[in-house]
Amino acid sequence: MKNSLIVQKYGGSSVANIDRIKNVARRIARYRNKGYRLVVVLSALGDTTDELLKLARRITSAPSEREIDMLISTGEQVSVSLLAMTLQRMAIGAISFTGGQVGIITDYSHTKARIIDVSADRIKKELRKDRVVVVAGFQGINPDHEITTLGRGGSDITAVALAKTLGAGICEIYTDVEGVYTADPRVVTDARKLSYVSYEEMLELASLGAQVMQARSIEIAKKFSIPLHIRSSFNNKTGTIISKEVKAMEEALISGVTVNKKEAKVTICDAPDKPGIAAVIFKEIAAKDINVDMIIQNVSRTGYTDLSFTVSVRELNRARQVMSDIVGKIGAKGVTYNRDIAKVSIVGVGMKTHSGVAAKVFETLASKGINIDMISTSEIKISCVINKKHADHAVRAIHRAFGLDRVRRA
Ligand code: ADP
Ligand code: ASP
Ligand code: MG
Repeated sequence: MKNSLIVQKYGGSSVANIDRIKNVARRIARYRNKGYRLVVVLSALGDTTDELLKLARRITSAPSEREIDMLISTGEQVSVSLLAMTLQRMAIGAISFTGGQVGIITDYSHTKARIIDVSADRIKKELRKDRVVVVAGFQGINPDHEITTLGRGGSDITAVALAKTLGAGICEIYTDVEGVYTADPRVVTDARKLSYVSYEEMLELASLGAQVMQARSIEIAKKFSIPLHIRSSFNNKTGTIISKEVKAMEEALISGVTVNKKEAKVTICDAPDKPGIAAVIFKEIAAKDINVDMIIQNVSRTGYTDLSFTVSVRELNRARQVMSDIVGKIGAKGVTYNRDIAKVSIVGVGMKTHSGVAAKVFETLASKGINIDMISTSEIKISCVINKKHADHAVRAIHRAFGLDRVRRA
């Protein structure tokens, strides 16, 4: 393994204070002693990003997205410089960089920019000098040299993108849990750690609320077959390997249950049931760069119909503006907004070949007296929107109903 390169990413809780940064430095030292070359991607200390966003909100409820990126990209600069100093003090050659300095080029959008190119020449040069290269996660620059950020949890994306560009053998993601579990271990105490998860399953789990990995980072890992190891920075246990689907995985029907409490439901009431209405609504929504998740339109009995869709709560204000402009235009009676929703989902590649999963989910929710608001399914997942106050209870009930606390996966 001499000279092989590893990209490691440490999340906010792993660098929350100086003791934890020292802990990260000691881990890096151990890898160096084994002969590895290391590129280390960091998140901001603890809840720094949230704290910075709170500061902005004290000034305005609608800050410019360019300035938001300018603000929240500072969090990662603090952590990388502190880690580089710690390593240098331990007599380990190290240098920290911003995303822009190492050539992470993104598109022009702010707060959820996409990486379009990574040159990484600077990193390669420093690696040749035998230094540990510490890179600020979550950020890049656009072709106009403006600072951009990649969306919440975006340090995972930085890490995977660098692993691809540098041809690293593995990308290790260090966090505050021991891997990917059958459900959020903070919600379901008997959730089980999964040894292996396929990219396909992880992509669904992450997109549906399993915060442990940022969904877009999994898309990149899948596209370039980069193996990921999700593990704890607080111990040396093996965590979860995310890689291509292997046979053992196909035998497990369900891999996990997730919940997303960060969506809101928009309902257009009594819209005329005629061609073109949905097209108008979603064209306007898309023009404002708002992502829509679930969409439901009811059967019309009176020539009028209700249409509901969900958006991220972060984009709800912008969706409200769009809707108040078009509700009159399309001849609907009104529009309502509901933030008290949660989307509970069950994911597993085994669903492709097994029937009865949906019925069991619905039965489980019914037995707990939980009403289902919206349903959506794909080949490997079933999602139900329910009242937010029942969310954790629903996750635990579904987890138990499918025996996920007991199933031993390969
Ligand atoms: P980091 O700061 O290291 O990026 P995050 O807070 O983004 O950490 O992600 C880790 C958290 O994800 C865990 O503390 C856990 O509560 C949550 N989580 C949600 N679903 C899962 C899951 N299925 N498996 C593991 N952790 C999960
Ligand atoms: N600090 C950023 C966030 O809190 C990015 C990250 O942690 O991955 O979203
Ligand atoms: Mg994260």
